[in-house]
Amino acid sequence: MKANYPNALQHPIFEVVAKASEQMNLKSYVIGGFVRDFLLQRNFKKDIDIVTVGSGIDLALKVAELLPNKPKVQVFKNYGTAMLRFEDTDIEFVGARKESYFFESRNPVVENGSLEDDQNRRDFTINALAISLNPDSYGDLLDPFNGLEDLKNKIIRTPLDPDITYSDDPLRMLRAIRFANQLGFEIEEKSLEAISQNNERIKIISGERIVEELNKILLTDTPSLGFLLLYKTGLLPIILPELTALNQVEEIEGQTHKNNFYHTLEVVDNICRNTDNLWLRWAALLHDIGKAPTKRFNKKQGWTFHGHEFLGGKMVKKIFERLHMPLNQKMKFVQKMVMMSSRPIVLSQDLVTDSAVRRLVFDAGEDVESLMILCEADITTKNPIKFKKYHKNFEIVRQKIVEVEERDHVRNFQPPITGEEIMEIFNLPPSREIGTLKEAIKEAILEGDIANEYTAAYEFMMRKADQMGLKKAAT
Ligand code: ATP
Ligand code: MG
Repeated sequence: MKANYPNALQHPIFEVVAKASEQMNLKSYVIGGFVRDFLLQRNFKKDIDIVTVGSGIDLALKVAELLPNKPKVQVFKNYGTAMLRFEDTDIEFVGARKESYFFESRNPVVENGSLEDDQNRRDFTINALAISLNPDSYGDLLDPFNGLEDLKNKIIRTPLDPDITYSDDPLRMLRAIRFANQLGFEIEEKSLEAISQNNERIKIISGERIVEELNKILLTDTPSLGFLLLYKTGLLPIILPELTALNQVEEIEGQTHKNNFYHTLEVVDNICRNTDNLWLRWAALLHDIGKAPTKRFNKKQGWTFHGHEFLGGKMVKKIFERLHMPLNQKMKFVQKMVMMSSRPIVLSQDLVTDSAVRRLVFDAGEDVESLMILCEADITTKNPIKFKKYHKNFEIVRQKIVEVEERDHVRNFQPPITGEEIMEIFNLPPSREIGTLKEAIKEAILEGDIANEYTAAYEFMMRKADQMGLKKAAT
């Protein structure tokens, strides 16, 4: 007897799809992620994939007609698919198809096919599960590759020869690793080998697609598991060579430095416990990438990485460009976090002065809290005494940030006297003197020599101007 899951079909769309299919004399099924996640009892999914033996587009149009609100159907003619939105859910329709691939591209040649053909072209056995929406078999599970077993045993396996599956569409290599990470599954040995064999093929995949998967890995609770798989299969050195360059430890005269690749993965896992912000997680992943190119050894200091934050920030931009990631505020944010990533650490090691905290808050602006989260995640020492001490120091820094903020309001600090005003007061055109005065006022405030307010700044400026031999304009 077939396993039967009418319970899976509670969403109101299924009844309508079933009715439309019957009227059009089509066999239809719900397939893929929805079925998988239902069987795993994973939280409710946002999209539902319907496959029909016939035209997916025609079925979508019919379903829309039967729905009370007659939603718009988005048709993707080239792909033979259509989509509509119903009660916050994307419903995707596709006609069952058979695919054959050519080496140069991941875009297959497509012909109409049976349900089995369609299941064969799916990436993993657990994604090929389908449930019938047809009257004679409503709720029956169609599982030609024993996906149900694999779900129980937590295995990622391809329906066909993995070597062909991954070579045909190399994106599947990333999907395998992403699903393993998201679901806590193991990738079957043969599959892992095939991924390693085909890793170079990832080069035909666009940056956007790669990043979509990397983002999903970064949004899991323990991204290190995914990144270790990416590393082990040889994909990571192709996608993010800057990161794998950190995987080395050198020794000179008995002095070593830490392995910054494994350290980075620990930092990423750490930060995931304290933030869901994808871009802050990216910052954690990239915070040390400047260390490989800046590494030096000298007898006095041992290993140094001078300027790695600054160089790392520049490398962030190159990576974002290469992977076609957004080059907007998000990139700037990641860059800023990387560039500032050592600042609070220095603070937490020394005596924390007010002026140092003021400078930190001024430079980090509204991102100061994110920066603190990053720096706390960066504490990976295995020495429990140091671990405690560093965390405690960060608490002190946080406290100081609050105090300094309350008193001096430097977070979105605009100097109390503007350049225009200075020009007017001394009747000067834009010039070096104006810049010097403006900078001196800012410095005096950040140093705590004067309060962050107009009168104090004005008096300070007049003294400074006097030293510079500048005279107030006659009014
Ligand atoms: P999620 O939406 O949680 O990422 P999903 O399994 O629904 O998981 P989608 O990308 O929405 O993934 O794809 C829907 C279904 O389409 C998958 O379950 C799978 O059957 C099939 N599929 C998607 N991408 C591929 C691919 N590259 N190769 C083969 N089949 C794929
Ligand atoms: Mg999906």
